[in-house]
Amino acid sequence: MIDEKHLKYLSSIVTDENIYSDKAHLLAYSYDATREKFEPDAVLFPRSEDDVSAILRYCNQHHIIVVPRGAGSGFTGGALPSSGGIVLAFEKHMNKILEIDLQNMVAVVEPGVINKDLQRAVEEVGLFYPPDPASEEYSTIGGNLNENAGGMRAAKYGITKDYIMALRAVLPNGNIIRSGKRTIKDVAGYNITGILIASEGTLAVTTQITLRLIAKPLLTKTAMGIFDSVDSAMEAVYKSMASGVTPVAMEFLDQLTIKAVEHTYNIGLPTDAGAILITDVDGNLADDLDFQLAKIESVFKENGCREFKIARDKKEAEDIWFARRNASPALSVYGSKKLNEDVTVPRSALPELLKRFYAIADKYKINIPCFGHTGDGNVHTNVMVDGSDPAQVEIAYKAIVEVFEATIELGGTLSGEHGIGIAKAPYMHLAFSDEEMALFSSIKRAFDPNNILNPNKMGL
Ligand SMILES: Cc1cc2nc3c(=O)[nH]c(=O)nc-3n(C[C@H](O)[C@H](O)[C@H](O)COP(=O)(O)OP(=O)(O)OC[C@H]3O[C@@H](n4cnc5c(N)ncnc54)[C@H](O)[C@@H]3O)c2cc1C
Repeated sequence: MIDEKHLKYLSSIVTDENIYSDKAHLLAYSYDATREKFEPDAVLFPRSEDDVSAILRYCNQHHIIVVPRGAGSGFTGGALPSSGGIVLAFEKHMNKILEIDLQNMVAVVEPGVINKDLQRAVEEVGLFYPPDPASEEYSTIGGNLNENAGGMRAAKYGITKDYIMALRAVLPNGNIIRSGKRTIKDVAGYNITGILIASEGTLAVTTQITLRLIAKPLLTKTAMGIFDSVDSAMEAVYKSMASGVTPVAMEFLDQLTIKAVEHTYNIGLPTDAGAILITDVDGNLADDLDFQLAKIESVFKENGCREFKIARDKKEAEDIWFARRNASPALSVYGSKKLNEDVTVPRSALPELLKRFYAIADKYKINIPCFGHTGDGNVHTNVMVDGSDPAQVEIAYKAIVEVFEATIELGGTLSGEHGIGIAKAPYMHLAFSDEEMALFSSIKRAFDPNNILNPNKMGL
């Protein structure tokens, strides 16, 4: 707990209206999307980079823990004050788009800018910021950078890291650093930007971000393929991604997910299908989009697709996407407890990965419905059990270890987009050697020798 003297000093930095220490507000900032609960000692809303610097300098001197927070939409507990301390929140003041530089096609933003607000602002001037996590309406660019968020468009356009050109950040000792440039090329010095991306607020507090923008494609088309078997659908994924056209998105729902969505929403999905693939293509010429879709259709059909449907208008496209967008909540039909992982493998390993997941489900007699961003090898793997039954919950955690082991064996990663936080920290040893973990720890010490910034996250 921090005492009155510390609170008084911290409020002298940010002013009284930008510090909360009352019970109701502490409770409000004790959650993220994991729904774990850890109350902070105080919540501070810095007004500027100088405020962030003064706060960190003071906290470092007094060994007070600081946890940066965006919108708190993280799935792994990164923004939770799991070891106490103060939460640093950017939604109130440091939430502005500072510049859209048309000549160099970059945007400069503060960390609290909401992803979708940035997308809308740059689209108004004909530019495009592609990373589109499903949380785009509320997650922040600061949170996206610190988790390296991805979205539906990652298959073609990549993820947050592919758009970060430069940043400003405050080190735990209060000193301000800059990394990167507003240039396409920059090979001078170590890549500090690269180290800070996905660092989950454990190394420095991001205060300003320079993002690469691209030209906005004029046209998009959506299609859906229905497959008898999930195996052939997974073959179709990597073969179509390597067929010479690059779909914007290549999403999938397996049979259990299709059944859950149909049971919940009754939208006419084929519940006998083994899998559904949903794809978007984009470009500037209608002929080009038709060419891309014809190519994907032929690869799908060579790989067991029994029906290929192209949306004729926006409404039909939205109807197709409805099933995918509502997959996650529909899975509650399989149990009240969901262990939702976002493992990712090289695309060609997808058929084998899914086979292994269903074998784990059979072994433990549980359901593991899967859906997700197969275009980038990212599978949302949902181990579903009855949360009121401790024996079932124990089984779920055993199954998760096997899910991770299978993923790693196939050359994959524990997390494609949600990060490690506290939720996946116990599994880091499955993916990294002692030496690699020691290297992570020494990077952490180099930035944060007093271990005040978001400690005990990422298995560190
Ligand atoms: C319904 C739903 C759908 C989602 N879909 C996706 C998806 O499609 N793709 C995806 O990648 N993720 C998804 N997520 C997860 C989540 O939205 C992302 O991880 C997002 O990037 C988190 O942003 P945030 O602003 O909420 O950050 P928070 O959750 O508040 O914080 C995330 C991490 O960033 C750190 N952080 C935040 N701001 C700063 C800063 N200024 N300086 C230093 N560290 C900072 C925090 O300490 C924490 O470790 C989803 C979440 C939900 C609830």
